[in-house]
Amino acid sequence: MNLFGYYNGKYGDIEALTVPFQNRALYFGDGCYDASFIVEGRVLFIQDHIDRFFNSMAAIKIRPDFSKEDLKELIEECARRSGTAYGLMYWQCDRGTAPRQHCFPPESVKPDLLISVNEKDGMPDVVSPGTAITFEDKRGFYCNIKTLNLLPNVLANQAAKEANVSEAIFVRPDGTVTEGSHTNVCIIKNRKLITHEDGEMVLPGITRKYIMKLAREASVDVEERSFSKKELMEADEIFITGSSTFTKRIMSVDGIPVGMKDDEAYAMISGTYMKLCKTGHESG
Ligand code: PLP
Repeated sequence: MNLFGYYNGKYGDIEALTVPFQNRALYFGDGCYDASFIVEGRVLFIQDHIDRFFNSMAAIKIRPDFSKEDLKELIEECARRSGTAYGLMYWQCDRGTAPRQHCFPPESVKPDLLISVNEKDGMPDVVSPGTAITFEDKRGFYCNIKTLNLLPNVLANQAAKEANVSEAIFVRPDGTVTEGSHTNVCIIKNRKLITHEDGEMVLPGITRKYIMKLAREASVDVEERSFSKKELMEADEIFITGSSTFTKRIMSVDGIPVGMKDDEAYAMISGTYMKLCKTGHESG
């Protein structure tokens, strides 16, 4: 599989690109990232992802030395140069490279920009159902910022892998379901779509945003509110959403059969999202 990259002005094969030893992403995870899927060489919802990326940088006080337009051009250039038809476009910016100290380096230190393209065989499979486990959500209050500090997500995702399931769903100690290790979580109950509201507890997912928009356009009621593990287990449908997953229906949680009671609603939502990605996938 093709692995193409960019780092601070250099393009090339990922294996040939190197990152400096004093890089702050390496020591502190002091940066943020974003990622989107490539369909027929075009980066899905690129403006939404760039806007969220700039929000993440602003939230952690990284001052980019490039504009949104510069970044869009660079990302599109990477897509072109890599020749990737389907894949994952990933980019991250850290606070720069400087001797290790916790506080910010001097303003003269420029942020580092890294972009990678990982080729895939095609679009994700949104039809075959998956499985999940629950995992205690011990994260802090920065979940809305796409920072490089992903240790809880890494541990949750590894637990999912060891349990041989598709995703780990975070549940706060009070029983509130937040999101997955790398996805948002939606449930359908009595033809109503329910997903955790925006705020500090979840990432404002771009897939989730379009799923809600398409659901509303199809006259499905959407409730953005937190819901409990009990509601999750009793939902008519559970599905996860994300840029690399698109949508995945969940048929068991912690080994207990769940959802799978509203084929029509899931098929409509996943089908219209897939159509949007294949055809009119400009941001909006
Ligand atoms: N939640 C988390 C923690 C994620 O890491 C991601 C994607 O990486 C998502 C949700 C889904 O967001 P999006 O649909 O923008 O990819």
